[in-house]
Amino acid sequence: MTELTPNSYRTRWAGDLRESDVDSPVPVTVSGWVHRRRDHGGLVFVDLRDRSGLVQLVFHPEEAAEAHGVAHALRSEDVVTATGVLVRRGEGQVNTDAPTGAVELSVTKLVLISSAETPPFPVDEDGHVDELIRLKNRAVDIRRPALSRALRLRHEVTRAIRHVLDTAGFTDVETPVLTRSTPEGARDFLVPARTSPGEFFALPQSPQLFKQLLMVGGIERYYQIARCFRDEDLRADRQPEFTQMDLEMSFVEEDDVLEITERVLTHVFEVAGLQVNPAPWARMTHAESMSRFGNDRPDTRFGLELADVGQALGATEFKVFRGALDSGGVVWGLNAGNVEVPRSELDALTDLAKRHGAGGLVWAFVEADGGWRSPVGKFLSDDERAGVIAALSASEGDLMLLVADSQATAGAALSAVRIDLGQRRGLVPDGLHHALWVTDFPMFEPDSNSGGWTALHHPFTAPSGDLGDPASLKSRAYDIILDGVEIGGGSIRIHDPETQAKVLEIIGMTAAESEERFGFLLRALRQGAPPHGGIALGVDRLVALCAGHDSIRDVIAFPKSASSQDPLTGAPGEVDPAQLKEIGLQRLPVDRVQRTPED
Ligand code: ASP
Repeated sequence: MTELTPNSYRTRWAGDLRESDVDSPVPVTVSGWVHRRRDHGGLVFVDLRDRSGLVQLVFHPEEAAEAHGVAHALRSEDVVTATGVLVRRGEGQVNTDAPTGAVELSVTKLVLISSAETPPFPVDEDGHVDELIRLKNRAVDIRRPALSRALRLRHEVTRAIRHVLDTAGFTDVETPVLTRSTPEGARDFLVPARTSPGEFFALPQSPQLFKQLLMVGGIERYYQIARCFRDEDLRADRQPEFTQMDLEMSFVEEDDVLEITERVLTHVFEVAGLQVNPAPWARMTHAESMSRFGNDRPDTRFGLELADVGQALGATEFKVFRGALDSGGVVWGLNAGNVEVPRSELDALTDLAKRHGAGGLVWAFVEADGGWRSPVGKFLSDDERAGVIAALSASEGDLMLLVADSQATAGAALSAVRIDLGQRRGLVPDGLHHALWVTDFPMFEPDSNSGGWTALHHPFTAPSGDLGDPASLKSRAYDIILDGVEIGGGSIRIHDPETQAKVLEIIGMTAAESEERFGFLLRALRQGAPPHGGIALGVDRLVALCAGHDSIRDVIAFPKSASSQDPLTGAPGEVDPAQLKEIGLQRLPVDRVQRTPED
């Protein structure tokens, strides 16, 4: 703050004034908002707030009658300029908690610049306010400490990113916002093109293809703090427009990209004061993550890992387990430890597993003789019960939780149960954060719509293995995970046009379709493409983690609401029929454009 220079409306910043400034012969002028006003024994006290902090103004009725009169009528959030003499506060009036608590400005001249309506919520505290009201009155909300702090931290984070990348020779290049569809797996936002009636631009889901062209163009090291747009169905804490730190490098392998990303993130964490395990971060294969944690973004800050107990149940007659195993599924479990869990909590965990697609959750407490206290214990043989206990390394008193289902569902359900238990039990260490990489993803996954394949990352990711066997093919993709949250991902790319064409074919595109949609990329790959790779980090989520906020809306100056609306400006809104005519569009009645479930 101290580096802020004064400007026309102030000689000093409020929050900078100190005892050492007392007795200066030069009067002090400050400007800002009325944070609080108190009338006290004839004196009026005003806390004046500017971006640097607060200073107390005092108005004496005899010494400055006019200023005192104006001050008396001030209301919270009025904007004022005050000139006076900085004095020491009287005996017993010093506030040792505030940086300016030893001084006050004895005001001789006060100008009310703008008067303020009664604020919709108090600015001088961070208490809970309905989010819709906050979003509608964002200017006032931004004055509140939590949000203004978050926006400054966001600036520090992007500055830290730029610092590391600038030093490492990366060039910041802007890429278009009006473009063609970029396939990151979401719907595009479309922009009608007035000058080409009936045609549309798409907003970029990421700068993916442009950054690859920059590599073919010899830029070698590119980055951008880029806005991306994805028209996804409503999901808590997703924004239709969001920010990525996007980078790409040429003549690199995985190690190069991971190393620069670790350097960027290490500096970000340092600047944000976040305690994270030191880089280089461990790399876990996708397969290991799925089998130990049930998902591809493992929260490695605590144990309660999953285990496959299917082997112990190979010959079981119990129909829930038998059914899952016979249909190619699994029985997976976790050992929740020696805890007495009330029935209500077991029911809540069962509901949670069901919400993640599982038919149910089997619970069992291990008894002294190796028996199970469990609704299903009686359906299993002694050997089966002992086998499960051994597979989960359980001992007397331990609670075992099991799910029998397809591998994907068992993983999803148990990982949700695991996270819930971790939080409920306080197993997540306070203040210690944990980063790691997940690597070796499958290249493709079955596409439930077409019955074919879809790329798990995106179809420009380099495959590793035999292209003739899409089911077992791995990709050279990597995700960076912090505390069980994916904060970024990237890959080494395909730089060989033939391989690229083949991958597009595997995901169901004809040669003509590939040429029509991605001809510009295929052409560039034929024009001398270096091996290249990169990554994108989700800046909103990263800042939210650094700021300790759960919602990314709390670290974005002007976010959309959870239902993708902008309560501030009223967007999205209707447009004038004349505007529609100009772009050659006609509105259908709303019920004809409503989405059908299979949409
Ligand atoms: N474009 C990718 C994404 O948005 C990131 C990358 O592969 O670099 O997820």
